[in-house]
Amino acid sequence: MRGLERGGRQWTLARKKDGVLRVLSSNRSDPQRLTLRLRQLVGSWDGDTSDVRVETQPAPLDDGLGNGPGDAARDAADQDDDEDDRAGTPSQFFNDEEAAQAPAEVAASIAGAASGARYGGLDTLIGSNGPGAQSWPEVATHLNGTVRHALASDDVRAQELITELAQAHAEIVRDGATPERAAQMDALCIRARRWLDHRGHAFTELGKLCAELTGSLADLAEDDSWAQGQCEAMGQTLAQGLTARSVRSVSELLHSTRERQHSLRAERGRARDALKGLINRMLQELGELGQHTDRFSDSVGKYAEVIEQADTLESLAGVVREMVEESRSVQSLVQRTQGRLRDEHDRASQLAERVEQLEGELRKLSSEVQTDQLTQIANRRGLISTFETERAKLERDPKPLALALLDIDNFKKLNDNLGHAAGDEALKSLAARVSGLLRPGDKVGRWGGEEFVLILPEAPLEEAQAVLLRLQRSLSASLFMHEGRDVFVTFSAGVTLFRLGETMEQALDRADEALYEAKRTGKNRACVA
Ligand code: GH3
Ligand code: MG
Ligand code: MG
Repeated sequence: MRGLERGGRQWTLARKKDGVLRVLSSNRSDPQRLTLRLRQLVGSWDGDTSDVRVETQPAPLDDGLGNGPGDAARDAADQDDDEDDRAGTPSQFFNDEEAAQAPAEVAASIAGAASGARYGGLDTLIGSNGPGAQSWPEVATHLNGTVRHALASDDVRAQELITELAQAHAEIVRDGATPERAAQMDALCIRARRWLDHRGHAFTELGKLCAELTGSLADLAEDDSWAQGQCEAMGQTLAQGLTARSVRSVSELLHSTRERQHSLRAERGRARDALKGLINRMLQELGELGQHTDRFSDSVGKYAEVIEQADTLESLAGVVREMVEESRSVQSLVQRTQGRLRDEHDRASQLAERVEQLEGELRKLSSEVQTDQLTQIANRRGLISTFETERAKLERDPKPLALALLDIDNFKKLNDNLGHAAGDEALKSLAARVSGLLRPGDKVGRWGGEEFVLILPEAPLEEAQAVLLRLQRSLSASLFMHEGRDVFVTFSAGVTLFRLGETMEQALDRADEALYEAKRTGKNRACVA
């Protein structure tokens, strides 16, 4: 209020009122920004001395509040045109940045240009006579299109907003802007922002829900079940922020492991049923054999009676003959059953082994998401997981952590000369060789293609270099045999120390630079970055 009363040369009372009105209307939705803008406005009145010239500020609105154009400051503005960005001039509050955040101002400006500056005061702001004036309706159309695009959804409220915005925009373009239309546009934009904020919020909440679900699934799953690995992969992705790419990659992973899990389960089920069937058949055979032997012992009882009552040698000989025949047939039955039982037992053992193997594979699905199938060492996901564990340790207890990026030299040539299968063999053999030479706490993984990453905890640079040298020396012995001949492979490497606060990718980028240096300077060597 004191500022309003204080006289000024540039800031007439009408200008001041105009300025306050604009600041109020364009910052309604943000109390903090409103306070800041008001402070800046009032501050600029204080600097209003007689030698300050104000030029391109908007002329006061002829808005029915008695603030008509044509005062002394306007005259002053006409005299000089190049001090627009002087701090504290009224135009400061209506510069491009401000306009971009104040829909009402934008709408009014556009309409001012479109309708021959009907919204009087703003023609100076947007320079209706300037070269860009004709483009404003086009800009408005683009902005309107963008807002509609952002709002597009099945939600009824968004649909209503789209319709209302389209109507308001069409009116302004057709008939020009008035303070009422500007205010209406402002209100619509505020509603649109609220709706978009709400949707953004829902998206964030959805991410949290996924993290929760992943967490509880991991809690429920048994320690070595397939679900553990999947949960871990999902958790890692969610922790890195939701992007369409990351979500898709986890979906694909979950989909493929689920499919394998389904088929493994079905196969295991079939193997189990077959095993059960076999066992049942074996029991049946044993039962039948039992019946035969029972019958045989009954017959033996009967023969005993006959023998007791026998009075002639002939009748005794007949009984003995019958007995021998019957015991022979029982013996051959027992032999046949024994043979069948042996065969079935073999088949049952095979089936039990298959069931065990399938159960093992189901369990392995868990580690599969972190293991490279070809080389059976960690894959990119496994490496990220190890790195995260090591990084967390460093936060509690800072120690050097070295990362090395290895790339096989001339691998394409190896593939071309010896075939892809030999290339695969080289990858497998190298992975095994490196794994065998590392300390227990170190980790090697396949980063992709013919690139490997080493994570070397508690290793200063010199030690990491020494590890690489050791690996490189070990490759002076042949890596594997191909068609009876020794195959030798070398690699180049870049080593770097992880710096707290950076991401694994950032550290590996540095290692990659060093790797490139190693390639450039002759290969089969390690450089440091
Ligand atoms: P440089 O010494 O500069 O690293 O040359 P390079 O030939 O090793 O490198 P380049 O990147 O040109 O070729 C890498 C080759 O690795 C190309 C690709 O076909 C092969 N490769 C990637 N993944 C596999 C895989 O899983 N198996 C096989 N056999 N080859 C692979
Ligand atoms: Mg490569
Ligand atoms: Mg290579």
